Amino acid sequence: MQTAQQRLDKVLSSIHDAARRAGRAPHDIRLIGASKAQPVAAIRELAVLGIRDFGENFVQEALQKQAALADLDLVWHFIGRIQSNKTREIAECFDWVHSVDRIKIARRLSQQRPSDRGPLNICLQVNIQHEPSKAGLHLESLDEVAHAARELPGIQLRGLMAIPQPSDDLVTQRRPFAQLRAALEKLHAQGLHLDTLSMGMTADMDAAILEGATMIRIGTALFGPREPRGASRANAAPHPWTNVPKD
Ligand SMILES: *Cc1c(COP(=O)(O)O)cnc(C)c1O
Repeated sequence: MQTAQQRLDKVLSSIHDAARRAGRAPHDIRLIGASKAQPVAAIRELAVLGIRDFGENFVQEALQKQAALADLDLVWHFIGRIQSNKTREIAECFDWVHSVDRIKIARRLSQQRPSDRGPLNICLQVNIQHEPSKAGLHLESLDEVAHAARELPGIQLRGLMAIPQPSDDLVTQRRPFAQLRAALEKLHAQGLHLDTLSMGMTADMDAAILEGATMIRIGTALFGPREPRGASRANAAPHPWTNVPKD
């Protein structure tokens, strides 16, 4: 059984190695602990070791953890599917939202963001490979949504996010990440100054860093395995974390 310190050291050294291979500075890659299904104590342990950013997929679970960890100065990222009836809580309680995939959601988050908190940082989620089971815009509609989102006062469009199809092969893993980076560069050329590429999870973080990830969302490698959410449910989906639309 590894300790949190050992898991963290391993993740940091992977970031370091991949960054060096890419000719990048390791501190340009922000590590987000993907803490869904992990207990408050495990988040606290990592916070004590210096991790400040945590990503949650489910609103009610996140609000409970935020309350239990309110004594710490943490940055909360919403990285799960967004149901429109949950946007108010997301706008009020998070610092970043990585999974905005339609303009309607961006508008609601903008309207519902409390003005004293400053604009909510958002990324547009892109479904690069057009996977029917996954959330995300298709690349073809990205420009239109990005330009519309930029006009909204309560949010600040920061960049793009993607969750590509799993693959064991580094070359195959890199391809969709390269496409996401090209999409960001295209928006940049159109005058949108975006600085964030949220891409890379435990199994593909090296590929993501090689293609320019500025935020990686790491669950398993940081926390160890999580209890499958579907375990106590009759209708568990095969990939419960990326596919289940329920909250
Ligand atoms: C669960 C999750 C992660 C982390 O996954 P691991 O493979 O455990 O690192 C990252 N991003 C999103 C959107 C997730 O749902």
